[in-house]
Amino acid sequence: MASEIQVLIFFLCILLSAFFSGSEVALLSITHAKVKTLLAKGGRSAQALADLKRSPDHIIITVLIANTLVNVGAASIATSLAIERFGNAGIGIATGVVVLILLVFGEIGPKMFAVRFTEPVALGVSPIIRFLATVFSPFIWVFDRLARSMELTKAFAKPAITEEEIRGWIELGQEDGTLEKEEQEMLFNVLEFGDTIAREVMTPRVNVMMIDEKDSLAHAVEIFKETGFSRLPVFSGEKGNVVGLLNVKEVFPVVLEQKAGVTIRDLMHETYFTPETAKIDDVLKELQKRKIHMGFVLDEYGEFSGIITVEDILEELVGEILDEFDQDEPEIQTVEPGVYLINGQVRVKDANDRLGISLPLEASYDTLGGLATERLGHIPRRGDTVSIDGAEITITVIQMLGRRVGRVKVSVPLPAAGEG
Ligand SMILES: [Mg+2]
Repeated sequence: MASEIQVLIFFLCILLSAFFSGSEVALLSITHAKVKTLLAKGGRSAQALADLKRSPDHIIITVLIANTLVNVGAASIATSLAIERFGNAGIGIATGVVVLILLVFGEIGPKMFAVRFTEPVALGVSPIIRFLATVFSPFIWVFDRLARSMELTKAFAKPAITEEEIRGWIELGQEDGTLEKEEQEMLFNVLEFGDTIAREVMTPRVNVMMIDEKDSLAHAVEIFKETGFSRLPVFSGEKGNVVGLLNVKEVFPVVLEQKAGVTIRDLMHETYFTPETAKIDDVLKELQKRKIHMGFVLDEYGEFSGIITVEDILEELVGEILDEFDQDEPEIQTVEPGVYLINGQVRVKDANDRLGISLPLEASYDTLGGLATERLGHIPRRGDTVSIDGAEITITVIQMLGRRVGRVKVSVPLPAAGEG
């Protein structure tokens, strides 16, 4: 063979080595998410890329076979050329020169290039590498069998990405400024959403205004007027037995027309019942499907334990939604003597002054929510209770707004009868 042609083939091999090494890095490092976006834009290259990404081990096998072929080819040609010219010393010379050229131009250079231009490189090489994968399919089949017998494929069977990794990416995104703080919080909320159950977001029965089915419509109107609520759960006999929901829109026309003999039972309608342990994403789907706003939550014995609204569920995603009534709520509400509903952001000092109690004051917190968090030792969940002064005073978390304590119920001992 004329040496000019040999030199030409040598450089062709180096060029191909560069092509395959660059392909390897680009095809393996391009993310599945990116491939999806490219696929959506269409094009034959994107389709080839998507086909390849389905089996990363086939990419590795194809590229390594091709790369090894051209690397060995380049080395052989260079060695035979060197021997022709320098005799036996040519072997050493060829080895040194070929290693240097291959490393710089066949491996390191193209790989660094592919790291920087992953997307265009991956798209550009995909059709050719997919074609080669077909050509090499008998070899791929053999390697596949080998890998399977050595249980290597198990490494590919684990999930492509874990929730922990997604959290890591979101945190990184926020640190880099790609994501706003609010976006980060919402994304975290979405991740928690699927793990949240009805009990955690419902309004517990003790805080629900209800009406007896035997009460008069006039009484219902009174309650609607006083509370500003538009829906009232209706119970029969005892409060654990809810039988329906009364909507203000159905009550007012009847009262205005002064129809006689119409009862709450006639006007109330059925609603959706869900167990405390139901996942809130399922509850939300069900409420949407039935086009209703409020469902009843039942405990394990089938007793009414609280209400859950579309708003309660959405607040888990977007944080607190203030409506006109939420805003008007006083910071401290008296439920009954000795029992108070208090905003978690109220300062412990103020609560002590207003209620005439002495909750402990410490430097590490200054709100009631802070006190509850400190005593619990973790981010509180709805229903967590903290006892203070040997259970004399209890603080129960009633509502969480993200990681912040929205509202607590504080029970304080009443002065014994006869005492001041
Ligand atoms: Mg190479």
